[in-house]
Order: sequence, then C-alpha cells, then structure tokens
Amino acid sequence: GAQIVWFRRDLRVRDHPALVAAATAGEVLPVFIVDPAFVGAGTARAAALRTALAALSTATEDALVVREGAPEQVLRELVDEVGADAVHISGESTPGGRRRDARVEQALDVPLVATGTPYAVSPGRVRKADGSPFRVFTPFSRAWLAHGWRAPAELPDAVRWLRGIEGEPLPAVPETEAELSWAAEDTALERWAAFLDGPIDDYDEHRDRPDLDGTSRLSIALKLGTVHPRTLLADLDRIAPRRSKAAQRSLKRFQAEIAWREFYADVLWHHPRSAWRDFGDQLRGMAYDEPGEGFEAWCEGRTGFPFVDAGMRQLSSQGWMHNRVRMVTASFLTKDLHVWWVHGARFFQEQLADGDLASNSHGWQWTAGTGTDAAPYFRVFNPVVQGQRYDPDGEYVRRWVPELRHIAGAAVHEPWKVADGCAQGYPERILDHAVERQEALDRLAAVKG
Ligand code: FAD
Repeated sequence: GAQIVWFRRDLRVRDHPALVAAATAGEVLPVFIVDPAFVGAGTARAAALRTALAALSTATEDALVVREGAPEQVLRELVDEVGADAVHISGESTPGGRRRDARVEQALDVPLVATGTPYAVSPGRVRKADGSPFRVFTPFSRAWLAHGWRAPAELPDAVRWLRGIEGEPLPAVPETEAELSWAAEDTALERWAAFLDGPIDDYDEHRDRPDLDGTSRLSIALKLGTVHPRTLLADLDRIAPRRSKAAQRSLKRFQAEIAWREFYADVLWHHPRSAWRDFGDQLRGMAYDEPGEGFEAWCEGRTGFPFVDAGMRQLSSQGWMHNRVRMVTASFLTKDLHVWWVHGARFFQEQLADGDLASNSHGWQWTAGTGTDAAPYFRVFNPVVQGQRYDPDGEYVRRWVPELRHIAGAAVHEPWKVADGCAQGYPERILDHAVERQEALDRLAAVKG
C-alpha cells in the first residue's frame, strides 16, 4: 500500500532514513502541512521554507502535496484518500513538536512511524554512566563522539512517487533581501562542497570574524533539514586524512560546533521548559527592566554602538547574524539594558531564518548566565572592544551601517571620537557602557547575597 512521508524539519531526499523506510515499503506520497500553529514566523524564515519546499517538490518529481490545516486532520484525510498503510516521519524533539506528534499518533488509524531525527545522535540518547543527562558541553561532546553515529542513509535507486494527488500551491514568497540561496537541498550541498574545498581549512582562525565569509552558513539548511548533520560529519571524516595539521584543527572545531547543536537539542529534550524559562537558578530573583525604549532601539539597530547596530541590521535584512555578533548583541540586551533574555530570544526567533528553539534559547542563556555552561555572569562584553577585535578594519560595520561609511578603518567603532562622526544621522549612544556594566554587577551582587 501507499506510504505517506510527512516532511517537517527534514526537507530533503538524500540521507533521509524515514524516506528510505517508506520507499522500501511501497509507493511514497510526500506531504508538507502548513500548520498555522508552527508557521507564521518572520519573513526570512517563511521565504527560506518556500525555497526549500520548491526544491523538494522538484526532487520528488512534483509528487509533493502541500496542504494547510491541523496535521491530524489533514493526515487522516490523506490516509483515507490514498489508502495509506503508514505515515512516516523523522522523530521530533522540541516540546511543541513532540506534543503534536503524540496528538497525530492518537488520531490516526494507521501507524505513525518515526525513523531517525534531525540529529546525528537522537536527543536523549547520550547519557552519563548513571543514566542522567549531561548539563555541561565538554563531557557531553566526549560522550557524543564515543557514542558515534550511522553512515548517511542511501536512497533506494528508484523511489516510486505517488503522483497526481491534489494539494495547494506552495506558500507565497514574502519580499525579503535575505540571502536564502543556500536553503534548498542542492544549493546547500553546493555551498558545503565549496566550503570543504578550502575555506574550512581556515575555519578555526576565521570563524569569529563577521567581516569575513568564514563560516559555512549552513544553519538555515540544518534548521530546515535540507541537509542532515550526519552528511556533514561523514564528509569531515572523509577529507581529514588529506589535510594539514592546522586544517585538521579547523575540521575538529567545525565538528564541535555541530556538537553544540546536538547538545542544545539534548538539553531541550530533557528540559522542555528551558525553551522560554531560565535553565539554571544562578540568577533566581534577578531584577530585570521591562523592555522599553532601549529595547526598541536595540531591535532597530540604533543603540549608537556600531558593532551592535551592524548586527541587528544584518539580522533584520538577512534573517541571519554572525555568531560573534549574536553573542555581543545578546550581551548588550541582557547586561547593558538589563532586559530578561527571553525578550531578546523571542525577537531573534521571529527574525532568524535559522531560528531554532534549542540553539536560540540556549545560546541566549549561555550569554545571559542562566544556561548550561553559563559563561560567568560578571563577564560583560564591551561592545566597542569586541568590534575592534573581531572587525579590525571596521568593514562589517560599514557594510551594515551606511551612516558610518564616511569613517575609514577601525575608527568606525567609536564615531563619537571622530569629528563629524555622527553627522550622517547615526544616533548618539543610548547608554554609558561603564555605568551599565557596574549596574549589572550590582544587580548580580544583590542576587548572590
Ligand atoms: P558555522 O560556524 O558554519 O557552524 C556550523 C553549524 O554548527 C551551524 O550551522 C550550526 O548548526 C552549528 N552551530 C555553530 N555554532 C553553534 C552554537 N553556538 N550553538 C549551536 N549550534 C551551533 N544557531 C541556530 O542554528 N539557530 C538559532 O536560532 C541560533 N540562535 C542563537 C542565538 C544566540 C544568542 C547565539 C549566541 C547563538 C545562536 N545560534 C543559533 C548559534 C550560532 O550563532 C549559529 O548556529 C551560527 O551563527 C550559524 O552560522 P553558520 O551556519 O555559518 O555557522
């Protein structure tokens, strides 16, 4: 009988264990459900999703059926329509996704078969010797490596797609300037191949530099599942023996970043509440300010701190921000503006095309000092020094803040020291970093008693 593959965070055909399971059992009907409860995020994410779906439709020889509605209802109808024997999925690990899948399983008369997950190692699998979950990255990553993962799944030679089932057109594409060409399966793999061809050798050295194109930019593809991390990990192992010692350090570093993604998914699996609440109680009782004018200025990239503003403008225009700048902007909101990380995380989650609940919320908590490997709360990023260090010639700032393009070199990080530095409409600083740093430390001291 027919096998439905319900695509969610796995919008690809290669290295797709659930698709393999379905294709082995019979004709395959690929389905994507526009679930009003899940879609509806920012334009960059919606546009990335559209790009990935268009490619998936082509990869499935136009068999892909898109329908809108509550998944349990849409799937019941489709099961009846095609007389399906089973609905196949990649297992989900986010709290909302798990609840939804449990509901769907209840509602269906045929099995909901989960094969694989969007991770090399399924969240919840790697544990301490006593069976408890890890709370710190380094021991987790060691155990994760020791656990290992399967080789990428091979797609059967000829999938028999069940074609001609009626659906709705793909969701409309919102207007966006976002760089989304790598959202689809083929283009993500092309980007990856080009990255492996050279840039990855310098990853360790370049990954902290937002002025360079030194990272893979695969976060959107990983978010949508247009590539599976296991594909990337297998390629790293394959090329490593032929690379120099220095390059091998970079490959290890890249593998560690994939491990961070897996760690945060594991943490969320064990602690679903940490998506929108403090993971740890390090800062219980902390006094925060309600989001006000400062928060608005931060969202809009007009704080008067060039490195922070460049990041926030890259975010709103591209739906992506460099990791170093995510840390600096998050620190600015939580420690200079004293706003609870949840407000910032919510804004990021809406704006980011790669917005991923586990990585976003725990990335925020890492910076805020409430997370797993809490960076010490008292380590407050200086937004000017960070800019000078990681954007040494000021190129990143000038790219995103046109009002500062008349300032050459690193001086762009302190326009207030340049004659007419703010003359092109760039705002004055909304706060004094030294004062707010001390304020953050005072509030911390009050909590620590
Ligand atoms: P690369 O440097 O090429 O890394 C390769 C892959 O490793 C990334 O695509 C990503 O999947 C993973 N990775 C890298 N760094 C991290 C990290 N610190 N934590 C978890 N995974 C990582 N990443 C998201 O994918 N979605 C988010 O919503 C998200 N929100 C974040 C919020 C904050 C406040 C912070 C500090 C970090 C956040 N990150 C998030 C992590 C990181 O910033 C991005 O994964 C990275 O910038 C994506 O760019 P890239 O693909 O070029 O990364």
